[in-house]
Amino acid sequence: MSHKKQTTTIFEQMSALCRDTGAINLGQGFPDLPEPTELIRAARGALLVQSNQYPPMRGLPELRNAVAAYYRQMQGVSINPEEVIVTSGATEALAASILALVEPGDEVICVQPLYDAYVPLIERAGGVPVFVNLKAPEWTLDVGDLAAAITPRTRMIVLNTPNNPTGTMLPRATMDAIGQLAEAFDLIVLCDEVWEGMIFDATPHVSSLSIPALRHRSVKAGSAGKLFSLTGWKVGWAIATPELASRIAAQHQFLTFTTPPALQWAVADGLNLGRDWFTAHSARYAEGRRLLVDGLTQAGFVVLPSSGSWFITIDLPASGFTQPDRTIAERLVQEAGVGSIPVSAFYQTEPETRYLRLCFCKEAKTLEQALERLVQFRSSIVEG
Ligand code: PMP
Ligand code: GLN
Repeated sequence: MSHKKQTTTIFEQMSALCRDTGAINLGQGFPDLPEPTELIRAARGALLVQSNQYPPMRGLPELRNAVAAYYRQMQGVSINPEEVIVTSGATEALAASILALVEPGDEVICVQPLYDAYVPLIERAGGVPVFVNLKAPEWTLDVGDLAAAITPRTRMIVLNTPNNPTGTMLPRATMDAIGQLAEAFDLIVLCDEVWEGMIFDATPHVSSLSIPALRHRSVKAGSAGKLFSLTGWKVGWAIATPELASRIAAQHQFLTFTTPPALQWAVADGLNLGRDWFTAHSARYAEGRRLLVDGLTQAGFVVLPSSGSWFITIDLPASGFTQPDRTIAERLVQEAGVGSIPVSAFYQTEPETRYLRLCFCKEAKTLEQALERLVQFRSSIVEG
């Protein structure tokens, strides 16, 4: 019998439950706001005028140039287009990087709570995940914990900033300290930065590629799906020094080989839209975030501070709930008609069970309706 895991992800499960019950889905992260017409038009144009045959395996040169130019402009990070490998979503960038750089028996340090794809991919490469936890409720990363998890078999550390599900970000001092560790123990840092375009306060995004000690031993994963709120497009990239990039490309060529050319053309156009466009784009999401956070806070929920992503987390005990997050998530969808994601789903070991993730990238009227239901649900449980 196969021992391969066959469970569907919590995101799929919750979305299916919402479809079946007609609940408002604040679980899986996908927007229902109008999609950027500039990109849709560019994709339509590219389908008609550009080749629809296999593009170059590493990605269209125009897109690889645009990715490098975007990071130079937005983050001041100097990237050579040769270092960019275009993939089918950040998921494939993560997969290709892990398959390229993790050998059977290698240990990979993962920081919980973590995105669900990391562990299955590490295991598929024959690697052994080793867990370190962010410290709730501020979700800080203690570099001493990372150092304590390093053994002679450690090959890689996987980071995620801004973090899904917490929305918190790793400060430069932490990234610098990780750089020193990585240098001292000859480790690779795989940094998942897909939420870099959705930051709602003044916290600076610190890319692993901006840390001198990490520049040559780090892979950054990015996602156009997240930058442009087009999650179904699945255009992403891995960026690393040419030697690492070649190894990643060698895996990419047997995973998907290429990514649809029309979408690559459109993303290249999108990345060239300029800083003001991106500021206006994320500002639309800031409105929904404010609406949900303010409404919940006024109604007695405690929302944890965060900086980025499309998610906020509720502190359940501080909000008056006594049951664990999975129970509350189940009751919330069944009894109140609102889908959410329990933060414990982002743990493989020692789960935190006190937090619930809600997605705010929705129209105001959807959020207002969800808010009403959440407030009523809390009243019936906490005050009822
Ligand atoms: N990493 C994180 C932290 C994510 O939240 C997501 C998607 N939500 C991904 C990777 C996957 O990105 P993509 O859809 O581009 O594959
Ligand atoms: N990244 C999305 C989220 O965290 C889900 C992506 C997926 O369903 N695989 O909600």
